[in-house]
Amino acid sequence: MKLTVLGSGTMTSPPKRTPAGYLLEHNDDYLLVDMGPGIIRQLKCMEIDLLHIKYIAISHFHLDHCSDLMAFLMNRFLLQENANQDLTIFGPTGLEAWFSAQAQWQGAWLHNARPRLIAFDHQPVQLGSWQIIAALNGHTDNSMSFRIANGATLFYSSDTGFQEELVPLARDVDLAIIECSLPDHLKIDGHLTPSDVARFSNLAKLQRVLATHIYPQNDTPDLKQRIQRHFDGEVIIANDFLTLYL
Ligand SMILES: [Zn+2]
Ligand SMILES: [Zn+2]
Repeated sequence: MKLTVLGSGTMTSPPKRTPAGYLLEHNDDYLLVDMGPGIIRQLKCMEIDLLHIKYIAISHFHLDHCSDLMAFLMNRFLLQENANQDLTIFGPTGLEAWFSAQAQWQGAWLHNARPRLIAFDHQPVQLGSWQIIAALNGHTDNSMSFRIANGATLFYSSDTGFQEELVPLARDVDLAIIECSLPDHLKIDGHLTPSDVARFSNLAKLQRVLATHIYPQNDTPDLKQRIQRHFDGEVIIANDFLTLYL
């Protein structure tokens, strides 16, 4: 499995950190995980054929994770009229209602060729060769973390506070993508700090952690050291366009 970080930041990040987005690839099969503002541009910078993407997983409806989705659908329509019929979107409970609310002003281009929508219902989801096990993580009423398998296994925390209940979802994965929003002294509910990342990584017995969703206040050269102070495994600080092979 190949992972490319499309967005390692959040809304207030400088241009070098686009809000959330990750491209997974296995045997020429893509899964796009989250689509914050700017992710389409990142895909185009990589010269990815947007029509080649068949599966998207959205973790929650905060705009730094999903605001490029409608623009993505329009882009695909303009490239090929029926393209969105071939797309499947997995998302939180309420996905249908959210999608309809977004779509109501769009007209025929979207309504004549809608993507397939799969909303979270506590069951594993198979998207082509991608298996996703999702769990509610408490960041919002319906926000999710993912365990994704396709050859290798990967955990994606998305946005979350410290949730011991998520440990089984992350245990023994090849790579855990974990949000690390703010430094310890600026901790807020619903997000993780370097100490939280370390504590969670120890509980899940992780070997390799990719810290991401980095707010400017946490974006200092010693971020890696601040996580490793309490965790012995490998820590990688995400950057846009960072590529890892699992
Ligand atoms: Zn959020
Ligand atoms: Zn976020």
